[in-house]
Amino acid sequence: MKNPDGEFPLSTPREPAASRTGSPIKLEDASGERVAVIGAGPGGLASAMMLARAGAKVTIFERDGAVGGRTKTVTAPGGYKFDLGPTFFLYPRILREIFEACGEDLDEHVVMKKLDPQYHVVFEGGGDVRATPDIKRLAEEIAKIAPADAANVERFFSDNRKKLNLFRPILEQSFGKPTDVMSPAMLQALPMMRPLSTVDSDLRKYFADPRVRLTFSFQTKYLGMSPFQCPSLFTILSFLEYEHGVFHPMGGCGEVSNAMARVAEKLGVDIRLNQQVDQVLYENDKAAGIEVGGKREAFDAVVINGDFAHAARRLIPEKYRPRWKNAKLDKARISCSTFMIYLGIEGGVGDLEHHTILLSKDYERNIRDISECRIPEDPSLYVQHAGHTDPSMAPEGHTSLYVLVPVPNLRSKTDWKTFGPKFRDMIMKRLEKLGLTDIESRIRYERVITPADWEGEFAINEAATFNLSHDLGQMLYFRPHNRFGRGVYLVGGGTHPGSGLPVIYEGARITAKLLLEDLAAKRKAPRRFFSRKPAIAIPQPQT
Ligand SMILES: Cc1cc2nc3c(=O)[nH]c(=O)nc-3n(C[C@H](O)[C@H](O)[C@H](O)COP(=O)(O)OP(=O)(O)OC[C@H]3O[C@@H](n4cnc5c(N)ncnc54)[C@H](O)[C@@H]3O)c2cc1C
Repeated sequence: MKNPDGEFPLSTPREPAASRTGSPIKLEDASGERVAVIGAGPGGLASAMMLARAGAKVTIFERDGAVGGRTKTVTAPGGYKFDLGPTFFLYPRILREIFEACGEDLDEHVVMKKLDPQYHVVFEGGGDVRATPDIKRLAEEIAKIAPADAANVERFFSDNRKKLNLFRPILEQSFGKPTDVMSPAMLQALPMMRPLSTVDSDLRKYFADPRVRLTFSFQTKYLGMSPFQCPSLFTILSFLEYEHGVFHPMGGCGEVSNAMARVAEKLGVDIRLNQQVDQVLYENDKAAGIEVGGKREAFDAVVINGDFAHAARRLIPEKYRPRWKNAKLDKARISCSTFMIYLGIEGGVGDLEHHTILLSKDYERNIRDISECRIPEDPSLYVQHAGHTDPSMAPEGHTSLYVLVPVPNLRSKTDWKTFGPKFRDMIMKRLEKLGLTDIESRIRYERVITPADWEGEFAINEAATFNLSHDLGQMLYFRPHNRFGRGVYLVGGGTHPGSGLPVIYEGARITAKLLLEDLAAKRKAPRRFFSRKPAIAIPQPQT
């Protein structure tokens, strides 16, 4: 398998099962069963690693020419490097454990730099906060804009520490049957979940100044949601950043995906790039293989990592997804989208921090506009200047800038072809609020990605870049299940536990565990005397 940075090492033989290190989730061993993984995004790569480690014969099919999905780093003409999507790498612990379970050390593959300040929040209406994981300094920063609120920072952290501890077991369990919502972990966490309260209303208990609340709530945008609607449980997002750090993987977040692919290949995974899967094939109502480029291949199980609503519509016949038929997908609540500008600039950009968030004067209206499918007038935006930390992101004397603007998904019916260039110009003007007044004439490379591109080029349903919304009606048991049907499994932001890298890696553990349990149960089941006739002919690979 090749990627733009060169060739990955050839596969090496797998160690015997006995010498494997343990993972927090106990995985059954496989014995050479064939598993197809559709998509080499973070979820697909993580599940492939664990399945191969357990002894399955895994093939990843990826429609793109590189691994990583939305989590890849691209090198543009002129040598400018850009993360395509994720730029905040949070809570590396889960991925470290997955690497360990595969006999590898994540830190030997990728250098993770902890950022301090982890980001700079600039309020258009006045004031700013350099968010630092040093709690004393953070309280001083908060005191600059809201002295009374500074005293409550510690209490917010200590309450959220408890909340995260209670919620972690829920993120780690699967939700395949209704009674799973009554698990001991759920019952224990219930009083803390406060299902009717939102992130913003929960934060009001600690902070009176709306700017302080925004500092601890804009993170709901990682889920593509508004802090005024997002369930209060998600105050743990900002807590997670302060408690466990915001990291920059040196070379970009795509380096993490490349490292995962390298380990997967070492464990024997066959990664096939530029291979778009056209459908999942069924025999006797159980997935039995896939069709790719007109060819059929037999597999014992299929894992789907492509964007859930996009992939489900195309790959799985409706009769095999009774809870997620097209009509339901059309009505499902979905996240916002993003308008992206990637700029290669000659010269520098002063002391712009690694991550800067500009929050619009009327943030609440801004968010409402997006939720109600209107383009906001003065949008909030986020700028990544990775060169602040990592000189490899641009050639010497140059700068790579990544600009992300939350916008409505394609349900807004905006014609991005005509509106995109106007919106781009307006955003360039807004960058002046961050002191970027002189960059237009120094642009040497530019790429814009509109919501229309997210759907057309990147196979994201209705350009909902953060997947199905994370409201309680679409979470846990109500989210598409990791064990999706007979022989079909889901992994990635569209299944449980949800979107965001650490959560997706955790989901990959759940999916791998369920799949390996099912394969083990099949092996132990008594063989049928009369086997049923296959409904479709799938050539069996020669082994
Ligand atoms: C702009 C943006 C910013 C984000 N920022 C962050 C952040 O800072 N931190 C964070 O934690 N998360 C962030 N996320 C969210 C999330 O972590 C990433 O989107 C993540 O990459 C999603 O992973 P995934 O496993 O769901 O698969 P994806 O990354 O969506 O990958 C799925 C893969 O499946 C492939 N595929 C689809 N259909 C087929 C098919 N039929 N055949 C073969 N291959 C197929 C696709 O090409 C793709 O490679 C961001 C997302 C976006 C879009």
